[in-house]
Amino acid sequence: QKFVYDFTEGNKDLKDLLGGKGANLAEMTNLGLPVPPGFTITTEACKVYLDSGDAPTALRDEVSAHLKALEERMGKRLGQADDPLLVSVRSGAKFSMPGMMDTVLNIGLSDASVAGLAAQSGDERFAWDSYRRLIQMFGKTVLGVDGDLFEEALEAAKDAKKVAVDTDLAAADLKKLVKQFKKIVESEAGRVFPQDAREQMDLAINAVFDSWNTDRAKLYRRQERIPGDLGTAVNVCSMVFGNLGPDSGTGVAFTRDPASGHQGVYGDYLQNAQGEDVVAGIRNTVPLADLESIDKKSYDQLMQIMETLENHYKDLCDIEFTIERGQLWMLQTRVGKRTAGAAFRIATQLVDQGLIDEAEALQRVNGAQLAQLMFPRFDDEAKTELLGRGIAASPGAAVGKAVFDSYTAIKWSRSGEKVILIRRETNPDDLEGMIAAEGILTSRGGKTSHAAVVARGMGKTCVCGAEDLEVDTKRRRMTVGGRVIEEGDLVSIDGSTGKVYLGEVPVVPSPVVEYFEGRMHAGADDADELVAAVHRIMAYADRVRRLRVRANADNAEDALRARRFGAQGIGLCRTEHMFLGERREMVEKLILADTDDERETALAALLPLQKADFIELFESMDGLPVTVRLLDPPLHEFLPDITELSVRVALAESRKDANENDLRLLQAVHKLHEQNPMLGLRGVRLGLVIPGLFAMQVRAIAEAAAQRKNAKGDPRAEIMIPLVGTVQELEIVREEADRVIAEVQAATGTDLKLTIGTMIELPRAALTAGQIAEAAQFFSFGTNDLTQTVWGFSRDDVEASFFTAYLEKGIFGVSPFETIDKDGVGALVRSAVEAGRATRPDLKLGVCGEHGGDPESVHFFHEVGLDYVSCSPFRIPVARLEAGRAAA
Ligand code: ADP
Ligand code: MG
Ligand code: MG
Repeated sequence: QKFVYDFTEGNKDLKDLLGGKGANLAEMTNLGLPVPPGFTITTEACKVYLDSGDAPTALRDEVSAHLKALEERMGKRLGQADDPLLVSVRSGAKFSMPGMMDTVLNIGLSDASVAGLAAQSGDERFAWDSYRRLIQMFGKTVLGVDGDLFEEALEAAKDAKKVAVDTDLAAADLKKLVKQFKKIVESEAGRVFPQDAREQMDLAINAVFDSWNTDRAKLYRRQERIPGDLGTAVNVCSMVFGNLGPDSGTGVAFTRDPASGHQGVYGDYLQNAQGEDVVAGIRNTVPLADLESIDKKSYDQLMQIMETLENHYKDLCDIEFTIERGQLWMLQTRVGKRTAGAAFRIATQLVDQGLIDEAEALQRVNGAQLAQLMFPRFDDEAKTELLGRGIAASPGAAVGKAVFDSYTAIKWSRSGEKVILIRRETNPDDLEGMIAAEGILTSRGGKTSHAAVVARGMGKTCVCGAEDLEVDTKRRRMTVGGRVIEEGDLVSIDGSTGKVYLGEVPVVPSPVVEYFEGRMHAGADDADELVAAVHRIMAYADRVRRLRVRANADNAEDALRARRFGAQGIGLCRTEHMFLGERREMVEKLILADTDDERETALAALLPLQKADFIELFESMDGLPVTVRLLDPPLHEFLPDITELSVRVALAESRKDANENDLRLLQAVHKLHEQNPMLGLRGVRLGLVIPGLFAMQVRAIAEAAAQRKNAKGDPRAEIMIPLVGTVQELEIVREEADRVIAEVQAATGTDLKLTIGTMIELPRAALTAGQIAEAAQFFSFGTNDLTQTVWGFSRDDVEASFFTAYLEKGIFGVSPFETIDKDGVGALVRSAVEAGRATRPDLKLGVCGEHGGDPESVHFFHEVGLDYVSCSPFRIPVARLEAGRAAA
């Protein structure tokens, strides 16, 4: 097994083994781009290290061999006193985890070689600056010293000299600082800063391995659903220097604007700086376009390289580069993160440029991004009080109370407050607070600062670099032009424009929703371009998808909206919603009925109401299937609360004026009270126990359909029986239903073509699907109940109790109520599909649980061969898109 690859040996498809950074450094090397030579230690080596606590034995020799080759190529040895080769030791996992793991620059500097570096570069200040950076980074990441101690010493040195930025410190100041830094290391880490270059390198490599398992890295992976066992690769890369004076510098660039997708020059540049200075937002950067006047030759070359990269990767790339005395070096590239809107725009732009086809365009976007574009925005018309303006780093409209530290953000959000996390700049320790906040606002840093990159990744609203804001974390407030915003004051931030407002700005629907609603008017140009892109992508998806998409809707209003959103029918109409409100009393009468007469009267009163509901529904979905589920929930849900009623009756009794009806009600409530209502008298069981209930509902459906038919409509009702566990239940219900339907058809002179099917939502139903299919013309998988019954836990209870612990322990990557549990619940679905179709080849198959609108689950349902998914109206576009992506 080979643990080390030279940059010339890898390529971009080896991300599993070399990590994203290593694979792309190799790809750029092979494209002939100027990459400083180096090599990559594989993720396999990291896995061995993490499993056994030790690097694999073969690794040391392999590293030695590669280091030797590198030294020969560069003509100097690592740490060589008179002319040291310096390297960076960089983390780099398969999936980018911005700022989560460690990197150490300038490895190879020591008390001896710092003089050599000064002599070789002719710049003493530079040499000492590089050395203090090494001790600082090494001390913090490898030896675990609190980074603030170094920062404070640096600040003190600047104060003592009365200068504002670190570039104003002279060689002598830095020399003193190095001494101080070494003392800090000694007292904090209990060891001296290692002077041996190879020891520095080996310790740094292990530290990078270890950084895979820091708390913040784990939290980030959970959030981003990155598997925990991938490990990181380690890149050893010869150093190039951006801190060699004004003709040097470092920067980041995008081949397109990651916020809009527009082509152009996007990025930040910082003169006379090294590595992390840009990302950390320590000094303010200049726009990349300014590089043209600073160093035209490097600028032109960079533009050329960016074009090469974009054509090669056929996608937006982001780039880290450094200029050392007029010589451009590429230090990193990858297919860049982007906002949801930009993803849609870029995908269609690339189709137009002929770089990708429509099927590929579908893979470049996803349902989560579409869902994000459907969020509301701030109302342009609203009266607002502008506080300031920053960089539009990650779109969205967020309103919340100002908080100035992550701890408060977490605490307040736990107690249900919406908060905006306001910082000068964020760092990886703020991750949890960022997750808890509605939005993030910083006063420093550009589009590539930590806050911006992480927020975009999470799809969270972010405005960064709002320089007018004076953030005072210690006093928990910020000032803007003399006005003070205290912790707890409401602020609104617009991540699409970068504007920051005082107070709560009202929000309006997104243009994408307006488009789906058919109300899109030519508004802002920006919106039109986005809408056009969404329109095209949706058309691709609709063209290729096999799954049909229906809506869960109980009334005409929802049904009509669903239709506008592209629903191809109703997959679930819950009739219990038709029994609530004023009708509750009628249901009470039904439940309390002692005699057949009383019961029949109660049912007869409900019939016309139900019928009227169905007529409306069938009309709104004319020509499309409407699956009506017969009454499902436990009866006690229609009765008053047991405690309340008991108290009322007891009070009345003490006053000796108890009313007869209340007493009967209380009796009924007691009788119907269940320990486990979810597993009690509900669904088909109700239909079998309360004579005439299901017959009434079937009659209402049939009469409504007949009326629509006679009015020249095209009703396509499907009757669905809930909670069936055995075919016998279904057979009994069907017999009665068939009789009622025949009666209605005869009486109205119609042929209704009603179909009768069942939900598959109990394990037994799934296990005996072959038998059940004999009595069912369709199956609809009720994956909510099926998940509850397969796992044996109740959704209403567990999400608040032990789910967080389960998620933290990694037992689930995601709640099985959100994304279908493929191995358990999914396996039952799969086998029920097969067994059902074996019995009845034309069996229609769908799903109507929440999973029907979940991207990952939609892919699963496509794969197992369902005919349709059904979800809430708002999720229909997402389901259409994901069904298209699954088929493309
Ligand atoms: P991250 O993944 O956090 O960006 P990197 O490994 O890319 O970490 O390195 C951090 C910073 O140091 C980046 O700005 C990078 O460009 C810079 N850097 C890394 N290696 C070198 C090198 N060999 N020479 C100069 N700068 C480097
Ligand atoms: Mg980087
Ligand atoms: Mg159910």
